Amino acid sequence: MTVLAVGFCGTVGHTPLIEIPSLSAATGCRILGKAEFLNPGGSVKDRAALFMVLAAEAAGKLAPGGTIVEGTAGNTGIGLALVAAARGYRCEIAMPENQSPEKIELLRALGANVRLTPAVPFSNPDNYYHVARRIAEELPNAFWADQFENPANAEAHYQTTGPELWQQTQGELAGVVMAAGTGGTIGGVTAYLKEQNPHIATYLIDPQGSGLYNYVTTGSFAAEGSSITEGIGIRRLTANFARARLDGAFQGSDREVVAMAHYLLHHEGLFVGSSAALNVVGAVRLAQQLGPGKTVVTILCDGGNRYQSRLFSASWLAEKGLQPTTTDLSFLAS
Ligand code: PMP
Repeated sequence: MTVLAVGFCGTVGHTPLIEIPSLSAATGCRILGKAEFLNPGGSVKDRAALFMVLAAEAAGKLAPGGTIVEGTAGNTGIGLALVAAARGYRCEIAMPENQSPEKIELLRALGANVRLTPAVPFSNPDNYYHVARRIAEELPNAFWADQFENPANAEAHYQTTGPELWQQTQGELAGVVMAAGTGGTIGGVTAYLKEQNPHIATYLIDPQGSGLYNYVTTGSFAAEGSSITEGIGIRRLTANFARARLDGAFQGSDREVVAMAHYLLHHEGLFVGSSAALNVVGAVRLAQQLGPGKTVVTILCDGGNRYQSRLFSASWLAEKGLQPTTTDLSFLAS
């Protein structure tokens, strides 16, 4: 018998790179999405969770029987809860109460102790980030993962996601685009790919309400509005985002996110979450900018099942005034 992977930790990464044929046909480029929703914990954040825990163990910051503490929009917590189970730790999660109920319930089912925090800005001490730090300070034997500033986060993508993309495209990619939360994925992936070929076009796509688009294009974090997307968008510079090597930035609207999520489900059988849908909007935009004949890559961060009661609920979308009005790609033209 050949053992191919060992437990949760041996199953993280090595995800397929999926072509999205109808978008390739529409743009004349090859549009490829890295299927991060196929990670064992269901999202791109499994990579960061595993690397942060392994780095903490190596640095002697996490001892047997200890507790992993993190503030998270959900996916990092899900990855951490599974790594914790696999390696014998407890897991404490602080999470804003406005995140999808699916993610909150899943975290509790996985054995994490979840403390919901008010959805307040970073400047407020009750923001989930500060709550997580305080929990770690107060608990004995606790390690605060601090995914925003922990360099092991971007390092996971520098050592795994970036090289996988390079190998899977045999170095033939012209552009890569994605949204950022902590900035770990974009930081590690763009740093790695630019080292392989500085001509690869590297772009951010930013949701409404985030300051990163303005930061990349003007240097200030000015931002307006809010977004239904979860896990992406931020109004400050993190150490992980600072590692990114970017050529430019796009913005995407909630209307485009909803239309693309439903388009991908109904035309391609791809059931992905809001950040993945925004990323694919970015891939189409970058393809249009680069012109036909190019290969453009993005990240399919997590699956649609985490947003069934929101992004894929007709009544929830109606409440937000966001029902998709088209079933084709015409929403991208505007
Ligand atoms: N999409 C989703 C669904 C996420 O949970 C996250 C992580 N917060 C991201 C995208 C962004 O990834 P990163 O933190 O590496 O920027």
